[in-house]
Amino acid sequence: MSHLIGFERPLAGNTMLRVHVIAGDRYALLVDTAMRGYEALVQEALDYVKQLEVPLAFIVNTHAHHDHIGLNRWVQQRTGARLAAHDAGRHWIEDADVNYREFVLGFPQLVADSPALRREVRETLGEPGKVDLGLRGGEHFYLGGVDVETLDVSGHMFGEIALVVQQEKTLVLGDALIGLDMPMFHGYVSASQFRKTLTIIRDLVLTGRIVRVVSAHLPPLEGQANILAAIDARVAHVDRIEAFLLDITAFAPRTLKDIWIMLSEAMGKEPEFRGLTMIANHLHELCDQGRMKLQNGVYQRVFDPT
Ligand SMILES: [Zn+2]
Repeated sequence: MSHLIGFERPLAGNTMLRVHVIAGDRYALLVDTAMRGYEALVQEALDYVKQLEVPLAFIVNTHAHHDHIGLNRWVQQRTGARLAAHDAGRHWIEDADVNYREFVLGFPQLVADSPALRREVRETLGEPGKVDLGLRGGEHFYLGGVDVETLDVSGHMFGEIALVVQQEKTLVLGDALIGLDMPMFHGYVSASQFRKTLTIIRDLVLTGRIVRVVSAHLPPLEGQANILAAIDARVAHVDRIEAFLLDITAFAPRTLKDIWIMLSEAMGKEPEFRGLTMIANHLHELCDQGRMKLQNGVYQRVFDPT
């Protein structure tokens, strides 16, 4: 019997929304709870666990984005499962208004609150659950005949958890391998943390600990070559963004708004809040590294005097 199974529904375009069940002889875990509007998907996962005749002991949230946590409380009310999530995302998981405000409205002068954004994000967050077990990465769940190890794979989001299902050499991800084909930037909050996470996943592949990756939105990746190619594509994506940020600020100072519009245009993405946060954080990191400076509201590249 396989210890891991995914349940999915279309999200938008070619992108799917998936939750996973990992089950052993003693108990099962549900990885993520999708969001409001996807009750039938999550019910399918719960029905599967019921048929296995083991309790659903835990929900594990990979990260605190709305499409991964929206039905936490809904599942808890039906199963009594305890909620485990990265400590760094706890305040977003437990307060839907904070989640919406900090995720979507970080730059209200550039992206204003709107009914469309509320429909897309705020209204998909159901009644919040309370986090019962804070994770940092490195914890183990012994499900009975199957061991699951958590990893910190932050970068797309501050505080992101992945699960290694050891007996199946499979890595279960939320969004740590970000989508590249979406109409908007799927995004990262820290370029350097995102790069570290890509290195961690690469090491898991090269040491033979994983041979398969499943995730919330991407098609499953089978075999070393396919996983490494997916990692390389994400490294190239960050490299391309970083090169663009350095190039366009080399000879003319630019505002965040201009950079956001220009990069979105250059990479064929809708200029929306996820990309804006990604760019602002990447610029901030370049400033910290002394490669960029922010003065009077404009960013300018700093050239190494050597
Ligand atoms: Zn996400």
